[in-house]
Amino acid sequence: MLTAPQNPSPGLARVRERIARAAREACRDPASVTLIGVAKSQPAESITTIVDGGLADLGENYLQEAEEHAAALAGRPVRWHFIGALQSNKTRPVAERFDWVHTVDRLKIAERLSAQRPAGLPPLAVCVQVNLAGEASKSGVAPAELPALAQAVARLPRLALRGLMALPPEEQEVARQRHWFRELRLMRDALVQRGLALDTLSMGMSGDFEAAIAEGATHLRIGSALFGPRPPPPSR
Ligand SMILES: *Cc1c(COP(=O)(O)O)cnc(C)c1O
Repeated sequence: MLTAPQNPSPGLARVRERIARAAREACRDPASVTLIGVAKSQPAESITTIVDGGLADLGENYLQEAEEHAAALAGRPVRWHFIGALQSNKTRPVAERFDWVHTVDRLKIAERLSAQRPAGLPPLAVCVQVNLAGEASKSGVAPAELPALAQAVARLPRLALRGLMALPPEEQEVARQRHWFRELRLMRDALVQRGLALDTLSMGMSGDFEAAIAEGATHLRIGSALFGPRPPPPSR
């Protein structure tokens, strides 16, 4: 008996469908939402399969892993997003090899990324990460310090400040999820009022991306809903 060819990326098709449905419910164009596949702890072959299945954006938390994935994907057009914690002694390879950095949370990091961005490349697109609930376990600038940091980052010549990113507290209820995403959107809107041209809200992961879309997310960072449960991280 003949079997139908298997869809090589069932996770991608399912997530795209959920994004389209959530966007329609929010009266938004699904094309205004960019899906970033979070590649952390995934073997290079899973990454290659999903990129060949049509995923154009990859998010990486760790530099060494990003380099392994990039080597496996050589020649394929991918937009690379750095979404991990950034130490100041690791900024150079990020400035040289990534298209976006979502996790700028202090001026020193931003200054180094700007200084190290190669002249032949367009300005590095960045988001400022906000620690919405002041959680000690998470990075991000405190909301009270956001305006000053955003204004300073926006002045750096080799960066393009595009918007805000957050990893809000984990919530089960959609209303609570939306509460945090709305906070980030209102912070972005307040900065736009002050004259910054910010078009990006990087928010929403596997467990809450529909709520993020309802509150205006433009960039979703999704791992397990695309790839299945994450394999344990390699010890390094
Ligand atoms: C791991 C990670 C994600 C994706 O998490 P999932 O729950 O697997 O979708 C998104 N953003 C950041 C910053 C991450 O580290």
